[in-house]
Amino acid sequence: MFETLKAQAPDKILSLMAQYKEDPRSTKIDLGVGVYKDASGLTPVMRAVKSAEHALWEAQDSKSYVGLTGDPAFSDAMVKLVLGDAVPRNTVAAAATPGGTGAVRQAFEMIRMANPKARVFVSDPTWPNHVSIVQYLGIEMVPYRYFDSETRSVSFDAMIADLKTATKNDVILLHGCCHNPTGANLTMDQWAEVIKVLQETGATPMVDIAYQGFGDGLDADAEATRAVAAAVPECLIAASCSKNFGVYRERTGILMVVAADTGAFALNQGTLAFLNRQNFSFPPDHGARVVTMILTDDALRADWQAELEDVRLGMLELRKQLAGELKRLSNSDRFDFLAEHRGMFSRLGTTPEMVEKLRVDHGIYMVGDSRMNIAGLNANTIPVLARAIIDAGI
Ligand code: PMP
Repeated sequence: MFETLKAQAPDKILSLMAQYKEDPRSTKIDLGVGVYKDASGLTPVMRAVKSAEHALWEAQDSKSYVGLTGDPAFSDAMVKLVLGDAVPRNTVAAAATPGGTGAVRQAFEMIRMANPKARVFVSDPTWPNHVSIVQYLGIEMVPYRYFDSETRSVSFDAMIADLKTATKNDVILLHGCCHNPTGANLTMDQWAEVIKVLQETGATPMVDIAYQGFGDGLDADAEATRAVAAAVPECLIAASCSKNFGVYRERTGILMVVAADTGAFALNQGTLAFLNRQNFSFPPDHGARVVTMILTDDALRADWQAELEDVRLGMLELRKQLAGELKRLSNSDRFDFLAEHRGMFSRLGTTPEMVEKLRVDHGIYMVGDSRMNIAGLNANTIPVLARAIIDAGI
């Protein structure tokens, strides 16, 4: 029967990774896949994660099932990390999921269950998985303008104009911080405008927050998510622990559903349990347990925050160095946006042909839409990349 299947296009970023591996040039630079790397190119296990895993190995005496929505302590710790005191805890239904992707998927399923006619507004561009999951589930997708490829910043007026066309039957998907793939983000004043549109249209916000702590700091990066959650009656939040805890392969994420009051909590919580049951039953526990141990232990938490802050400041420094080098070589400020962007990515804003040229001529690998993983750089490769960008005439 399976001969009826259509071949699926391979994931572009994963194909790029494979190409990079096969490239024999020792000077090659990998700015592709969205994984944090230190200056030596490694994706380390964070110190606090190692310590928590060690303690867990010593103490854990059962691998029996936990619960359909995961360990309630994980939900408590994550709701606090992401939402702070923005909304009462007893209005937030929450379920552990396999990674942030699992949370995104469950959120879209919940939207479709509640209203099969709901449309989902997504930024143009957005993380490609948003688009493919929405389409796979047969949900209507409406792109909203987001990125100005001239200024490489948010085209805010266009974004607001597009969001104003949403209705109370629609969902507006927003990146909580560190927009992927552009790196261009809203100011808090602009978020206030977006919140006004949410209130006027009655559309339901869905916030995807996958890089908390990678932009301006743990609380600063959650500020917009908290403001949105506090300002509207209902809100979906998909959070990932992959990046900020470095637990990518442990598949650790959470979906939160904020309700107007405690009355809707039970219905939402029951729906999350049902959806987990249908899709994978019990969510993975190891990463969630490690995250919970870190967030609820003062010493582990302080160590985690210190390491995360080093990661964040390191990426900011790379941004500054790259923008500085490009300023020097181009004798212009047209690359200053690189220092303004936040998170792991920046969209260079050039053509796929130029991206291909950088790959062929210089062994520089970035995603076809010119998204660069800033964490793929180091002090040695920054001058090489800057020179290649200028030589290519970008
Ligand atoms: N949302 C966005 C915007 C992302 O960039 C990512 C990671 N690439 C995720 C969600 C989810 O990541 P994961 O499933 O690995 O936790």
